[in-house]
Amino acid sequence: MNAPQPTKHHEVVIIGGGSAGVSVAARLRRAGVNDVAIIEPSDRHYYQPLWTLVGGGRAPAAATVRPQASVMPKGVAWVRGRAVDVDPQAATVSTDDGRTIGYHYLVVAPGLQLDFDRVPGLTETLGRNQVSSNYRFDLAPRTWDFIRDTTGGTALFTMPPGPIKCAGAPQKIAYLAADWWRRHGRLDNIRVILVLPTPAMFSQPDWATVLEGIAAGYGIEVRRESQLVEVNGDQRQAVVLDNKTGSKESIDYTLLHAVPPQSAPDWVKHTPLADPASPFGYVKVDQYTLQSPTWPNVFALGDAANLPTSKTGAAVRKQAPVLVANLLAARRDGHPSVRYDGYTSCPLVTAHNRMLLAEFDYQLKPTPTIPLVNTMKPRYDMYLLKRYGLPALYWHGMLRGRA
Ligand SMILES: Cc1cc2nc3c(=O)[nH]c(=O)nc-3n(C[C@H](O)[C@H](O)[C@H](O)COP(=O)(O)OP(=O)(O)OC[C@H]3O[C@@H](n4cnc5c(N)ncnc54)[C@H](O)[C@@H]3O)c2cc1C
Repeated sequence: MNAPQPTKHHEVVIIGGGSAGVSVAARLRRAGVNDVAIIEPSDRHYYQPLWTLVGGGRAPAAATVRPQASVMPKGVAWVRGRAVDVDPQAATVSTDDGRTIGYHYLVVAPGLQLDFDRVPGLTETLGRNQVSSNYRFDLAPRTWDFIRDTTGGTALFTMPPGPIKCAGAPQKIAYLAADWWRRHGRLDNIRVILVLPTPAMFSQPDWATVLEGIAAGYGIEVRRESQLVEVNGDQRQAVVLDNKTGSKESIDYTLLHAVPPQSAPDWVKHTPLADPASPFGYVKVDQYTLQSPTWPNVFALGDAANLPTSKTGAAVRKQAPVLVANLLAARRDGHPSVRYDGYTSCPLVTAHNRMLLAEFDYQLKPTPTIPLVNTMKPRYDMYLLKRYGLPALYWHGMLRGRA
């Protein structure tokens, strides 16, 4: 069977108009690339890092969303649709409304997929029965409702196994909640349990040690190498599996904040771009150049890329200029020579007005970018950076290809 003829062709096609897709498009336009298209189904663009503060009652949900049209770089064609397949041989992308779009260069940035369904009972009770998740725009405000409702009992905060976006987020909300309960005289009546799949509190050992102290300061019980495996919302019961012993415990909760398992979007898993070495189906690219090792005209970045670093917007900010430089080099028949070092950062909110900033690279080596400031100590100025500085940098710098 012959491949379908493209209904439209662009020099650069970007799948996904999120943090990564818009940043790359803006940089390409600044570099003088005229024919850039973004395939993006959503009318709304979200600044997800603030959802933690929405769930913790420190920011309104409205501050995290803008019309997609307002962030689309000038001169970029917006293909309103959902990519459903890529044929890298034919250099085409298919969309859910039957279009086939041809490209010279492809940038894959559709983010990742939230797999709430992988925990039986969880989807059915989201937003009800005191169960929430900051990982969805509509649910983050419910987290704050449920934190305020909680006066006693057991509050459970869970993190799933496997790579997730912002690996600090499952515990940040536990700290914000515990801090609020303490300031309102309730913490002594609430047993707070943090369920982590890993042996350590954080991938980077220096910050893992700091976070152990923060959790202990709130009296939080940390269950390591454990995971949420079932929820019965009507009974307000959650089942936690201890992966070391294989034993399961049913916990009666008064609040459950569950971070869902995550993976590449299903359609990506079924394309030849998916990395066979990734159990989660993320896109295979060279971890330094962000170029596909098989198809030199294909690049990927952001949450969808199989990169051995923490999936964050901060990582995207460092990946975008590297990807653009290497795509432009490929376009000039040159060699992609600019390297991404794995930089990522996690603003770890530890109280309503305190934050520490973890920054590190592929080697987990600390890579501080703020001179003369000890970001391993919870600080008020770092909190202000998280609440006001980073969102401004995002909307006005990163999405415009300037930062
Ligand atoms: C609760 C929470 C807290 C976080 N905290 C932080 C933090 O403190 N610091 C930090 O740096 N990062 C944080 N992050 C992570 C950060 O938001 C992501 O890493 C970042 O948004 C990744 O950018 P992306 O472009 O790869 O994906 P996204 O920004 O998710 O964008 C993906 C885009 O692709 C579109 N799309 C989806 N499917 C398709 C399709 N089939 N075809 C075309 N388009 C499609 C989507 O509509 C979306 O616009 C947090 C995330 C969450 C959820």
